[in-house]
Amino acid sequence: MSCLGCDLANAKEPVHTIYENEFVRCFLDIDPFNEGHTLILPKRHVKELTELTHEETLAVMDAAKMISEKLITCLKPDGITINQNGGKFSDLTHFHMHVIPRYENDGFTWSESAIQDDAHKRLDETANKLRTV
Ligand SMILES: [Zn+2]
Repeated sequence: MSCLGCDLANAKEPVHTIYENEFVRCFLDIDPFNEGHTLILPKRHVKELTELTHEETLAVMDAAKMISEKLITCLKPDGITINQNGGKFSDLTHFHMHVIPRYENDGFTWSESAIQDDAHKRLDETANKLRTV
């Protein structure tokens, strides 16, 4: 199976690598939201967060911390946003996590949900549901 994420994670395509170890590669996003926007990809083909091994999960989070430290040291952002889009919201067929240096008024938004289902009124019910699976 051809997977762009696999090719990027294993440097079969040109990438600007910042850090790598046996589990992950971290490289600059080709279309950065801000300078320093970095992607963390596992080297093994994995599509979803839930498919990562425990070691890969730790490697991704360790890398997110390390990349954040590098961005803070080098670029002095106002903050860091880390996000990961799964399922139909992923734009690759390969797990990737974004680490984005952020600046006040940079235009990044967290919009409110368009679904009006009063989820805030069912917090007890939702917590109970999630605790029991
Ligand atoms: Zn892949």
